[in-house]
Amino acid sequence: MIEYKSPEEIELMRAAGIVVGTALAALREAAVPGVSTADLDEVARGVIYGAGATPSFLGYHGFPATICTSINSEIVHGIPSKDAVIRDGDVISIDCGAIVDGYHGDAAITVPVGEVTPDKLELLRVTEESLWHGMAAARLGGRLIDISRAIEAYIRSQPHPAGGTWGIVEEYVGHGIGTAMHQDPQVHNFVPPRAPKGPEIVKGLALAVEPMVNLGTRLTRVLEDGWTVVTKDGAVSAHFEHSFTVTDEGPWVLTDLDGGRERIAAIRSGSGVTASA
Ligand code: MG
Ligand code: MG
Repeated sequence: MIEYKSPEEIELMRAAGIVVGTALAALREAAVPGVSTADLDEVARGVIYGAGATPSFLGYHGFPATICTSINSEIVHGIPSKDAVIRDGDVISIDCGAIVDGYHGDAAITVPVGEVTPDKLELLRVTEESLWHGMAAARLGGRLIDISRAIEAYIRSQPHPAGGTWGIVEEYVGHGIGTAMHQDPQVHNFVPPRAPKGPEIVKGLALAVEPMVNLGTRLTRVLEDGWTVVTKDGAVSAHFEHSFTVTDEGPWVLTDLDGGRERIAAIRSGSGVTASA
């Protein structure tokens, strides 16, 4: 069942989104060579509790940490550890969620650590840009599938740095969000065969969109810890996520500190210049 939010409830989600966006900004700065993922978890905890919010992930189905940290071939759901130290040339995906007055925000970034090779940087760019193209395709009166189609079309339109094919992960998808982190509907990052158009995009719908793209095969497996999802071929993966809603003024990116309107306007106008600083 889809939970449609009132404007007041969306404001609480914006407050949660700002906590998440602030934590991710701090984590981007903190993700330097020599730091452990447990150190990063500590940073996230400081920002979230410091803002009077609560982590969404800690204790979720038994998850033992505040953020998910997934390095290189890890796609999502990596568990922070003092033994997992990031090094020059790594990429690290950081997923963060926070609750304010019962409402969740959920977002993720993939960060280059030190000097990173151009193919990995291109993977990060394509994945992040596909997220923004997906959100930009969401219009009042449109359908959920518009988002999935835009994500996939953007990724497929971008040349692969090794002349191969981008691996769009299919097993993990975006979701509705509100009084729970994971709600209906699911938001695919591709158009499944014979996919229905999905629910209409209306005011009060809030979604977390989160494409995961691999440099190699789209296929995945889960490590023995029961959480960490990795690429089957060991190639590098990227993950970007935002929680957003659609208003009369267009998409409002609740977990982006600026609200994302300018970046979405740039995509819609076709200027193609959308990269954030
Ligand atoms: Mg997330
Ligand atoms: Mg999510």
